[in-house]
Amino acid sequence: MRARFPLLLLIAATPAQAQLCNGNSIPLQPDGRALGHLPYGDAAPGSLVTVPTELAISTCRLRPEAAADLQRLIAAAAGDRAVEGLLYAFSCHRSLAYQQSTFCRTRQSDSGADRAISAAPPGHSEHATGYALDFTVRPADGCPDAEACMAAKPAFRWLVANAPRFGFEMSFPAGNKQGVKWEPWHWRWVGTSATAPGAARARFLFARARRDFAADPAVDPVPVIVPPPVVRTIDPPPADTGKRKKKQRRKDKAER
Ligand SMILES: [Zn+2]
Repeated sequence: MRARFPLLLLIAATPAQAQLCNGNSIPLQPDGRALGHLPYGDAAPGSLVTVPTELAISTCRLRPEAAADLQRLIAAAAGDRAVEGLLYAFSCHRSLAYQQSTFCRTRQSDSGADRAISAAPPGHSEHATGYALDFTVRPADGCPDAEACMAAKPAFRWLVANAPRFGFEMSFPAGNKQGVKWEPWHWRWVGTSATAPGAARARFLFARARRDFAADPAVDPVPVIVPPPVVRTIDPPPADTGKRKKKQRRKDKAER
């Protein structure tokens, strides 16, 4: 019985399998992704703060460093007429249980793949980290929250031009190689620089995402490591060959 204890601990430490809404587990891809989404653990409740209510459509909890920069970003946006509206946070930290309900709420396809295009399976959402949020804008002008129409709004253009100054980058740009739907509303916080308070932790959590599926726009873009060019050594032509000697001998003969 005692011998089983380490095994049980190991099982408990293994991230939960992503679940489809019918309770079946999603087979993980060889790189650990589920339906394209990378795995993320849930932030401890005590590590989150509630952002001021006037900044959010509904309760928004984030890591304190992200919340502080969000506050600065929204204040800057409010003072810029180019935004043509007011920016708000509308979805911030999501617990595993909440992510499950978000994932299953809308389309009820059996495969789960359709849902995963717009919502990550539980255990695979950036929202679990407490560093990611969804923005929306008011007045909505007929554009529902978390819809592509947000990309046509001046507020979105403002985010693209300015959000990186506040440490936010767009996780799922158009045509991303990750295979996740373009989400102009979804941004993650990585700090304005690697040395900003809290940035190291956020950048550690998002290291794989940033390396393999770059955000756009990105903060402090991760340098792309270009492999050195392959240097081919070309052998010098032989100084003289038997063929050339033969040719010369024939030439000499003809001249005689
Ligand atoms: Zn989101």
